[in-house]
Amino acid sequence: MSLRRILTVDNRADIAVLKQVSKPVEAVDDALRALMDDMLETMYAAPGIGLAAVQVGEPVRVIVMDLAREGEEKQPRFFVNPQFTWKSEELFVYEEGCLSVPEIYDEVERPAKVKLTYLNYAGEKVEEDAEGLYAVCIQHEYDHLEGVLFIDHLSRLKRERALKKVKKDAQLSAA
Ligand code: ZN
Repeated sequence: MSLRRILTVDNRADIAVLKQVSKPVEAVDDALRALMDDMLETMYAAPGIGLAAVQVGEPVRVIVMDLAREGEEKQPRFFVNPQFTWKSEELFVYEEGCLSVPEIYDEVERPAKVKLTYLNYAGEKVEEDAEGLYAVCIQHEYDHLEGVLFIDHLSRLKRERALKKVKKDAQLSAA
């Protein structure tokens, strides 16, 4: 396993990749599992609770996630070619953050519950219901597969402010 660099919105070339629509995975094979292992390690090191492959520069429809709390046993989850089959009309507001938009947190409103299908680490088809933080996280990560960032859900003013702050922080840490 190896750590990958996480693409961030303070970098123009990174933004171009993050805006791409990720391609469906054709087969869950050892090469894909190696990517998923790298992604999980990178996500834990960040640390974060979810990561899409495009965030490490691989625009394929793969997501890793672990919603275990600190001190709890790790619960890694892997999603290949996820698809929503249902979303609730009921909405839920949560203060989101993103490893590609460092140090920015803001409230986003999304469907409170979803049903989804995906292939797991072994390539088996899984159908699941998600609510609470799981529903928030899988919708946030799915957005990445469509080239959408959580700040795209904010008002233009808030989004521009967030981008400015990320750039400023990056310059300060480079100085
Ligand atoms: Zn994100």
